[in-house]
Amino acid sequence: NMNRSKMPKYPGLERWILVEKMGDGAFSNVYRAKDSTTEYGEVAIKVVRKFEMNSNQRANILKEVQIMRNLDHPNIVKLIDFSESRQYYYIVLELCPGGELFHQIVRLTYFSEDLSRHVIRQVAEAIEYLHETSGVVHRDIKPENLLFYPTPYVPSKNPKPQQPGDEDKEDEGEFIPGVGAGGIGKIKLADFGLSKVIWDSQTMTPCGTVGYTAPEIVKDERYSKSVDMWAMGCVLYTLLCGFPPFYDESIQVLTEKVARGQYTFLSPWWDDISKSAQDLISHLLTVDPEKRYTIKEFLAHPWINGTDEETTAAA
Ligand code: ADP
Ligand code: MG
Repeated sequence: NMNRSKMPKYPGLERWILVEKMGDGAFSNVYRAKDSTTEYGEVAIKVVRKFEMNSNQRANILKEVQIMRNLDHPNIVKLIDFSESRQYYYIVLELCPGGELFHQIVRLTYFSEDLSRHVIRQVAEAIEYLHETSGVVHRDIKPENLLFYPTPYVPSKNPKPQQPGDEDKEDEGEFIPGVGAGGIGKIKLADFGLSKVIWDSQTMTPCGTVGYTAPEIVKDERYSKSVDMWAMGCVLYTLLCGFPPFYDESIQVLTEKVARGQYTFLSPWWDDISKSAQDLISHLLTVDPEKRYTIKEFLAHPWINGTDEETTAAA
């Protein structure tokens, strides 16, 4: 393989064969790799250039890894291993072969309401787990950090009646690479680089404090969660129409628009999108964080939980 010889070699990473570069960031490259002994078991490895970072930035990488270590959810990219050499950190992650949701939006222009619901519900499951079970806020939810894990098999329309003893045989469905009739597969939340622990999942209290917690700390916890909910509103808006709710060439004007919560359901793009979806988005893109939907309220909304007549009748 010509490509393989062009892949960089990293000290201490001999166990893995780097196959291709999948992405990059300010201090990192992300590679697809496989186990050198079995030639099987593909992973994603985030190689972070430690030598370019100051001590604060290094501490942040260790925090990212520490937070990921404690997470276990089907819609969150799993941490497989972590090691370091003199110059690099190696973060070995569960591979999401479908790449970024961002690229799927570009490919399809926009998603149907059903497909958007399928995607955002999975993001919401991840957020519910973070906010309600783990005491973590992500703080960087965006299409680039939502990765796509294609499900190769879609259950066949007319499954054969099962024979006794066949119970754990998988249904033979048809193969659908990427987005197909059977949906888009699984979505996994990645990149915990900006994430923060807000409460201790052991004691169920705001971090490190019992009883003497000041109101602003309690409020701060609620505010940090609402940051993820706003971002989810932006993602859902973008999925449904193909462009983000807030945009301007000038950063200054854009910042002003966000601060005022100045967005519209622009005609003609939004004309055929259900009022129910718009209602849900408006409860996420609410400037006052106290009034913004929490993850619980989000999951209870009719557009999400399928009790909504307008959208389910159309499907
Ligand atoms: P950064 O902090 O630099 O944004 P990310 O963790 O978001 O780092 O990784 C950068 C990019 O690498 C992602 O946007 C994605 O394209 C790719 N990537 C990261 N993790 C994985 C993974 N587990 N599977 C597939 N691609 C990944
Ligand atoms: Mg990222």
